[in-house]
Amino acid sequence: MKKIGFTALMFFAMFLFIFPQWGQAAAGSTSIYLDGKALELPKNGEVQNVNGNVMIPIRVVVEELGFVVDWDKKTRTITIQQSDTQLKLVVGQSTALVNGTKVKLAAAPKLVSDTTIVPLRFVGEQMGLTVTWDNVKKSAHLITPNSGSGNGTGSGENAGGGNEEQTPDPVPDPTANLANVGGISFSDNRLMIAVDKNVKPSIFTMAGPDRIVIDLPNTKFADTFSNNLMLDQTQNGYFDVTEYPDVSKVRYALFDDQPSTIRVVLDMNYTKKYELINNNDGLIIVNLNTESSTPGTAPGGNGKKLVVIDAGHGGSDPGAISVTKKKEKDFNLAVVLKVQELLKQESDIDFVLTRSSDTYPTLQDRVKIANDLKADIFISVHANAGSATASGVETYYTRSESLSLAKVMHKYLVQSSGLSDRGVRSKSLHVTRETKMPAVLLECGYLSNKNDNAVLYTEDFQDRVAEGVVKGIKEYLGLN
Ligand SMILES: [Zn+2]
Repeated sequence: MKKIGFTALMFFAMFLFIFPQWGQAAAGSTSIYLDGKALELPKNGEVQNVNGNVMIPIRVVVEELGFVVDWDKKTRTITIQQSDTQLKLVVGQSTALVNGTKVKLAAAPKLVSDTTIVPLRFVGEQMGLTVTWDNVKKSAHLITPNSGSGNGTGSGENAGGGNEEQTPDPVPDPTANLANVGGISFSDNRLMIAVDKNVKPSIFTMAGPDRIVIDLPNTKFADTFSNNLMLDQTQNGYFDVTEYPDVSKVRYALFDDQPSTIRVVLDMNYTKKYELINNNDGLIIVNLNTESSTPGTAPGGNGKKLVVIDAGHGGSDPGAISVTKKKEKDFNLAVVLKVQELLKQESDIDFVLTRSSDTYPTLQDRVKIANDLKADIFISVHANAGSATASGVETYYTRSESLSLAKVMHKYLVQSSGLSDRGVRSKSLHVTRETKMPAVLLECGYLSNKNDNAVLYTEDFQDRVAEGVVKGIKEYLGLN
């Protein structure tokens, strides 16, 4: 089978017409990975599990898997075409046609709020993908087959040669027996490596800085690997991890050629226990969600205090919008990154950021990070918005055990910001309520106020507030 990649734009408008409810937001709990890379799924609950069968909207089949799909409204028939395979499914019918031959379906396609959903495993497998289901994680993994010989469509390698014609290569390909690494991803504090053959990984840790190293003997990068992930000419690449505090970066490289070995390295922020899961099902998993970290080396476990710093909002959530159309999330992050730089110089404090770039961890994620790590304190940085005349700083807390932290942090917030003191306030906010340690939320000024807004985005103001935050942390923790 050829690599997946062509899309069907001409059907796109039609689907928008057929599926007008597309785009409504609601949480979906199922994840689908293609060669280890998470697919963009609709957030309106249309990915469903029907009697153990994952059902996906046709739009996912078109846009994410790249198959050509046709929909006949009258007969409610879905035709899915890829290379030389044609599937015909009918809404409500539990048999399908595969190239004209009847095949029984585990689950019939159905209509869900004007969207037709089809069984993922059936469509995937008929189209040549390997489909596995992780019941614990409620996630499906699709692995594209290895085209192996590298003569896929459109490679353009054979100058003057047509794609139709393949001249057999008389020289045995030494890489033919290698497993292809199709994709590497990191989500839910798990590293996932998609392979198309059984691989016996070896895994070990290195210190200074902390790393977890996974060697994959007899492997090479799949031809399609660089479609999704960075891979330079020396067969090296990496991606940053920002959503999970344990890991800062995932690096991968063709490490050795005798035998050909891909090495994947997790750059850790601290030592962490891990669990290697390799069921020879096309997916190698390194799970960092094991119960406890190595004693004495986890943050805060070495006599140091652990502080979780939370830059409010982020990613799709801009927070408040200022009078000059600046976004609160950018202010919050700028201050938190400055706090980070200052905390790096404090030998008695370990810290974890809930985000260090423009991403959106949910409020639950933020709380979970702090609670899982048993942080000593939690500090969330925000800026406020309200009436045009409201100006100044506020410190919020919810649980009474947070009051003394709130008082200390507020003292320094007022001092460092130079803005008017609007007081320490009690309010039921998710991150200060659900955390299990003293937790406060700082509102560092009003973006709706012309004067506050004019200073909030200055380097000087942000430096001062960051210093104030660190002073407050140190005073509260008795580290002065
Ligand atoms: Zn906010």
